[in-house]
Amino acid sequence: MTQNTNDWGAALAGALETWRIKNDYRFYLSTQSRQRLSHVHPDLKRVVERAIELTEVDFGVSEGLRSKRRQEELYKAGASKTMNSRHLTGHAVDLVAYVGHDISWAWPLYTQISYAMKKAAAELEIPITWGGDWKEFKDGPHYELRWGDYPA
Ligand SMILES: [Zn+2]
Repeated sequence: MTQNTNDWGAALAGALETWRIKNDYRFYLSTQSRQRLSHVHPDLKRVVERAIELTEVDFGVSEGLRSKRRQEELYKAGASKTMNSRHLTGHAVDLVAYVGHDISWAWPLYTQISYAMKKAAAELEIPITWGGDWKEFKDGPHYELRWGDYPA
């Protein structure tokens, strides 16, 4: 994910929000997203289910529980920095932003989704960590239950 999408990404997020409010449009999780959620920790699932009701930007679940084999592939490809991923234990989800039916990687959309996720987590008193807040290797789609409160 590159940072040079910031300007048009912010404009896009603003336009989508205006459109959503004007049309009183609500977002829903797709069947596929709900299937992927069914294998993650129930508390993280609750946060995502609440966040879709709060979000200004549509999103879907691209990945929940991950096999060790897939983690090894991602690690070798440099797409993951750890073999100790929270995805392996069902303590993490990846959420991708949608503009219509298309996935967008514009960073400001991911910031918007993080607001909804953090608000939902606060409401439900379920501590989460957003990969976008990490200092190195920022991971905009990634959310996990906080290690200290949810050891694997
Ligand atoms: Zn992830």
